[in-house]
Amino acid sequence: MKIGILGGGQLARMLALAGYPLGLDFVIIDPSNDAGAIGLANHLHGAYNDESLLQELAQQTDIVTYEFENVPASVAQLLARHTKIAPCDRALAIAQDRLIEKKFFHNLNIPTTNFAAVNSLDDLEQAIKTIGFPAILKSCRMGYDGKGQVPLHGPEDLVSAWNSMRNSPSIVEGFVPHTREISIIAARRPNGETVFYPLSENKHSQGILRVSRCCIDDPKQHNAEQYLSRVLEELNYVGIIALELFDVQGQLLANEFAPRVHNSGHWTIEGAETSQFENHLRAILDWPLGSTRAKGYSGMVNFIGGLPPTEQVLAIENTHQHLYAKQPRAGRKVGHATIRTDDHALFESSLTKLTLLAEQNIA
Ligand code: AMP
Repeated sequence: MKIGILGGGQLARMLALAGYPLGLDFVIIDPSNDAGAIGLANHLHGAYNDESLLQELAQQTDIVTYEFENVPASVAQLLARHTKIAPCDRALAIAQDRLIEKKFFHNLNIPTTNFAAVNSLDDLEQAIKTIGFPAILKSCRMGYDGKGQVPLHGPEDLVSAWNSMRNSPSIVEGFVPHTREISIIAARRPNGETVFYPLSENKHSQGILRVSRCCIDDPKQHNAEQYLSRVLEELNYVGIIALELFDVQGQLLANEFAPRVHNSGHWTIEGAETSQFENHLRAILDWPLGSTRAKGYSGMVNFIGGLPPTEQVLAIENTHQHLYAKQPRAGRKVGHATIRTDDHALFESSLTKLTLLAEQNIA
């Protein structure tokens, strides 16, 4: 079987690494020459919306999936005419637009922070009267890792914040005074069979995920599963999905979902019985899903912009390193390492050491 992937970055790389033992081969479309999955897949070099490349991808593969959600709807629709594609284009369309996404949660009775559409300075001034400060102005589309977001502390911020949006359709959200950020990842097959991973607790800095840890027997697990089930059923979803939530003293508010394998699930490679990457492949191929049981304590630290020396990473007990074969650049995710152990104290000390090491090498 051959799997096509739109995008050839680290997520495609880890999908391929999980797929080879299952007897799968991979074809990627990626416009760059140094994407992380090149070397692990047949590389169709070019733009994601190049029709002839998309047709070639459809011809060469049994099913197409993707590693980022900003795939134009027209591309997903074109592919769907020639081959199978999962997850569905509706999931993509919703996840691409923060306003549509928040309304989608609202319609499913999944709580979110207060929000309003903003298409002018006047809209922003009106909306902030009910939402209040602090708040965040975000562009509806093409925002990730904190890009396209401006904090609003007081009335003096409104004009410059709106100007920075350059008239793009935006959303203003009440700032959530969260106790922690969590995510829940699930895999769903076409027949509806669904498995949930234990929650991940996530630490961000400057809008970029830095550290995730697996939360075994978390009191909010059931609540998070209920919310994610509503999304899965509404979309008749197939594949891995991640739902990001704020925990505000025990109340969960949905922030966004990603219709793909997710950075906060990288700990599952060593830390779960079956990784999110393997379960994504099993789900889209309609194969039995693997157990999501956590194997002891595990967590992940991202390497952003620069890599610590491998000897120093591996010198930390119970560490596993994953490099993405990407050139380091400021703010770019170039690798991660996970810690997995049955010893809680050892886990905490190794995670602290790894976090410090990663911070010393940030660019
Ligand atoms: P996003 O691109 O929406 O995932 O935002 C990136 C990060 O910014 C989140 O993981 C949070 O740390 C922070 N953030 C985004 N929206 C809010 C909000 N409404 N309240 C508090 N923090 C937020």
